[in-house]
Amino acid sequence: MSLRPYIVGNWKMHGTRAMLAEARAIDRAGQRHPKVEVALAPPFTLIHATRKEAEQIGVGAQDCHPADGGAHTGDVSAAMLADAGAGFVIVGHSERRNDHGETNELVRSKAESARKVGLGVILCVGESEAERDAGRAEEVVCAQLEASLPMNQGAVEKLSIAYEPVWAIGTGRVPSLEDIEAMHRAIRERLVATYGEEGAEVRILYGGSVKPDNAAEILNVPEVDGALVGGASLTAESFYGIILAASGENAD
Ligand code: PEP
Repeated sequence: MSLRPYIVGNWKMHGTRAMLAEARAIDRAGQRHPKVEVALAPPFTLIHATRKEAEQIGVGAQDCHPADGGAHTGDVSAAMLADAGAGFVIVGHSERRNDHGETNELVRSKAESARKVGLGVILCVGESEAERDAGRAEEVVCAQLEASLPMNQGAVEKLSIAYEPVWAIGTGRVPSLEDIEAMHRAIRERLVATYGEEGAEVRILYGGSVKPDNAAEILNVPEVDGALVGGASLTAESFYGIILAASGENAD
């Protein structure tokens, strides 16, 4: 795990203003554990309010449009996200790839548009269950990665990769620790091949059914620099269990 583990909550399409109380409590947890970098990606509608309410944690978005602006009804540009208070954006989540048919090429252009306006990027990759069963997990993930990585100026700064096996998201199932390590090492190799030495500094997060009771063992796997957390980030209580595991401290 990197010196300062990065723990990011993805609220997906959950949350109205009533959930800002959870964001405030997560922010307090982040303040108590400064050795952990904590961040939340609420829905677009809560980004500005979450940024105002939370003093310490990072606040980001779950997607952006690749264009700077224009006739794209219902879409939000990276510059708009930055203006709303976002500091990063998640791109290429499997729910976007599957629900919206997002290609690697589109994901790359989203990541590049985010870097152009200074946003951090969390780029998601992951194999399906059929691909893993067929022994193709590494090949599929690395191909996705190589075709989605941003390549514009400053691309590698503030870039994180989230390895999220599709079959582990929201299912309560996780790969073996050996499989997580092997995939993270394969991703690291591709990052270094693409970006040179800077690729060694990119954080690689694991995502897929991370919970308070499995977080410590997953976060201790070599090359795991943090976690992208869906369901267990929706309440401060369960997210706190993961922040605590990342801190390496005992409950206070
Ligand atoms: C996710 O959607 O990014 C995710 C990891 O979800 P969950 O933690 O609920 O599996």
